[in-house]
Amino acid sequence: MNNDSNKSVEQCNSIAADRVQGSFDEDLVTCSICHMILWKPVACKTCENSFCSDCINQWQQKQPNKCPFTCHYEERKCIGAILKVLSRLQINCCYMQNGCSVAVPYEGLEKHEQQCDYQFKKCEGCQRELLLKDLAQHQELCDQIDLKCSTCETLFKRKDMKNHKEVQCLKQQLQQQKNQVQELKLEFKQEIQQLKETMEQKLKNQQDTIDQLHVKNEEMQEECLNVIKKQIQLHMMQETFDSIYSNTLKIEEHGLVVVLIDKREHSEVRGRNSYSSGINCIKFQIEKMLNNEWISFGVLSQSTPMASTSFSSPSFYGWGQCTTQTFLNGSNQNGYAGYDGDIKENDLIELIINCETNNIKLINHRSTKRYEIPIDASKCPFPWKLSVNLVNIDDRVRIVR
Ligand SMILES: [Zn+2]
Ligand SMILES: [Zn+2]
Ligand SMILES: [Zn+2]
Ligand SMILES: [Zn+2]
Ligand SMILES: [Zn+2]
Repeated sequence: MNNDSNKSVEQCNSIAADRVQGSFDEDLVTCSICHMILWKPVACKTCENSFCSDCINQWQQKQPNKCPFTCHYEERKCIGAILKVLSRLQINCCYMQNGCSVAVPYEGLEKHEQQCDYQFKKCEGCQRELLLKDLAQHQELCDQIDLKCSTCETLFKRKDMKNHKEVQCLKQQLQQQKNQVQELKLEFKQEIQQLKETMEQKLKNQQDTIDQLHVKNEEMQEECLNVIKKQIQLHMMQETFDSIYSNTLKIEEHGLVVVLIDKREHSEVRGRNSYSSGINCIKFQIEKMLNNEWISFGVLSQSTPMASTSFSSPSFYGWGQCTTQTFLNGSNQNGYAGYDGDIKENDLIELIINCETNNIKLINHRSTKRYEIPIDASKCPFPWKLSVNLVNIDDRVRIVR
C-alpha cells in the first residue's frame, strides 16, 4: 500500500471502528485505503477486496485501472457477505460529542446525520454556531436577525426595531410616497403629451380637409364657369345655312331654311359655322323630299370648294338618301356600319359633329336609328363645315332650334 496516497484520501463519511456498538468482524468491513468502516463499498473484480466508493474513486484518479493491491482494477459490486455484516451494524451518531445519544443502523446513518439536532448551524443573524435543536428558539430572539416591516416592506435588524418603527419607517414611507408622486407626475406628463399630440394631429387633419374642400370648391367654380362658357358658345354656334353652290338653291328665313327652286339638279348648301372643337349638335327637318328620292348631309373640310355633287367632293363624310349610300372622304361605301337609308320626308334628323373623337353621328328621331362614321382628320382637315345636297324642285330643309 502507498502511504502517501492514503493520507490524501478525504475521510468525508469515515466511520471509525470505535463508533460501532457490540462486536463484529472488523477486518471484513474495513476499507484497505482509509482503514475506516466501509462506506458505500464497491470491490475489485480481480482480487475481490472492497473499498469505500469515494476512496477507490480518488485512488483511480491518480492511478487509473490500478487496484491498491497492484492487480488490474475493474469495479464490481461489493460481495454479499460484507453487505450483510454492514447492514447489521449499530453505529453511534457522529454528533455524539455534541450530545446525540442515538445509535443508528448502518443504512439509516446518513439520513440521521443530515437531520441530527446535535449538529452545529450558523445563526442567520449573528452568525454564531449553535446546535440545530436550539437554533429556531435563538433566531426568534437574536437581535441581528433581519425583519421585514409590514408597513414599508424594508428590511431592518431586530435590534433596530424601535428606531425603525419610530423614525426609519416614517422616513421610508415618506420616500415611497415621494416616489409615487414622482411616478404619477411622469405618467401625467406623458398623458398630457399624448393628448397634445392627438389634438395636434386632429387639427392638422381638419386643416387638410379644409384645404381639400377649398381646392375642390375652386375646381367646381372653374367647372361651372366652363359649362356657362360652353353654353354661351353653343348659343353663339347655332347653325344657319350660309352659302349655296348655285342659284338653284334659295336660303330663306334668315338662314333657317333652304329650298331648291329652279330646276332639277344637284346643288350644295353649307352652314355658317366652322367646327374645330367640342361636340356640336345640329337638328334639321326634311320638310319636303320628292318621292323620298334624294338628300345628302354630313361634313367636309372648309377648304374643299363648293360643288354640285358635293357628296363626292374629297373630304366629305356623311350619308345619302339613295339606297344605302355612305360617304367616306367623298367615296361611297354602301351600307357602311349597317346604314339602311331609311330617311323620309318629314324626318327630324340630328347630326352630331364630334371634333374631340373625330366622328359624326346620325340620329333619326322617327326611326330612332343611329349611325356613326369615323373621320380621318388627315383627309378632312379642320375646320369642318355642315354640307347638305338637294336635287328635286321644292325639296326643303329646315334647321330646328
Ligand atoms: Zn475507505
Ligand atoms: Zn485488487
Ligand atoms: Zn445524532
Ligand atoms: Zn443569532
Ligand atoms: Zn417600516
